[in-house]
Amino acid sequence: MRIGTPLSKNATRVMLLGSGELGKEVIISLQRLGVEVIAVDRYEHAPGHQLAHRAHVIDMTDAEALRTLVQAEQPDIIVPEIEAIATSMLLEIEAQGIAKVIPNARAVNLTMNREGIRRLAAEKLGLPTSRYEFADSLEELKSAAQRIGFPLLVKPVMSSSGKGQSFVKDVSGLDAAWDHAASGGRVDQGRVIVEGFIDFDYEITQLTVRAMGCCGEIETHFCEPVGHVQVKGDYVESWQPMKMSESALTRSREIARAVTDDLGGTGVFGVELFVKGDEVWFSEVSPRPHDTGLVTLATQRQSEFELHARALLGLPVDTAIRDAGASAVIYGGMEAQGIAFDGVEQALAVPGSDLRLFGKPESFARRRMGVALAVADSTEEARVRAKQAAGLVRPVLPE
Ligand code: AMP
Repeated sequence: MRIGTPLSKNATRVMLLGSGELGKEVIISLQRLGVEVIAVDRYEHAPGHQLAHRAHVIDMTDAEALRTLVQAEQPDIIVPEIEAIATSMLLEIEAQGIAKVIPNARAVNLTMNREGIRRLAAEKLGLPTSRYEFADSLEELKSAAQRIGFPLLVKPVMSSSGKGQSFVKDVSGLDAAWDHAASGGRVDQGRVIVEGFIDFDYEITQLTVRAMGCCGEIETHFCEPVGHVQVKGDYVESWQPMKMSESALTRSREIARAVTDDLGGTGVFGVELFVKGDEVWFSEVSPRPHDTGLVTLATQRQSEFELHARALLGLPVDTAIRDAGASAVIYGGMEAQGIAFDGVEQALAVPGSDLRLFGKPESFARRRMGVALAVADSTEEARVRAKQAAGLVRPVLPE
């Protein structure tokens, strides 16, 4: 792998499709390795826009707009950071040899839709998942719910981070769940997945890295498991390492390997799993760094973002953990442009703590605006510290 000089004819150019807080950290890692980075997002001044060599605002679900931008910028590598992308165009770009897509266009296409990845995991690979059915109308949802049984979850097939998702206790909640899914889905496809509720003990993200090994073959590396807490389908707290039984960890890694082997390519994958005793279910996979993996900024020698940058460039990786640690999300708590943060000095005075403020131009009540990180001798202590630090940061209206 040869890396050129940024802004020269021989630059190694990487285009990020999506430039939020996760993309921003990938960009920092790439720039440390001398890569020229082009950041793309659907709104101005996205976190990654603020530090890339060039920034563009386009509708990434518009295939023609995407092709025009790729033709103008001629990146060597395209790195999708979000799911809402015209993935059909990525398949074309890859097939025509215009740019490499990370991990590859098929994996990005399959995982953007809950149906593609669920059918792959459960029907092709035979992995354990919740019971599920797909429904295209309220009537279909009602009959699917009878077969699946209550409680259950209804999720738009095109959605993430809990958007449009409902937990339904009994038949009386189905109408509202259908309406909620229709309003919360990314592209209103009017299709939902109905999932049986799994009464798990805990859930983890098994960060899995496919990277080029010394012999020219792709090798699979596992990070220590990340435990997390979700509220309404959105992550609020994560920690690493999550204590698990040997057999649950082995099973988790078997599942993660099966899914990532099938998806292929190089890069970081966030494999989401539910665990009860020694039993493990596959839930989802992101073919990119995972939000719960923000904790690795504090805990690992190479964060998931550095791992992704290295893997996508064909470089070796090291998934070793250095310290036990935790992350806690800082929400905007208000609807406003250009908010400010008080209490940063108190937060950073918490022992072992660190902070990322993403610099998002607009705050919403439940928008993730930053994250507090902490290391400690134990994950329990790290969780206390991260939550304390997050609580000390106060979003305020500008004067
Ligand atoms: P998802 O958007 O599919 O990642 O779901 C978000 C969160 O909702 C998960 O991390 C779980 O906490 C919860 N969840 C989703 N599906 C199920 C399920 N079938 N059973 C139990 N909890 C679930």
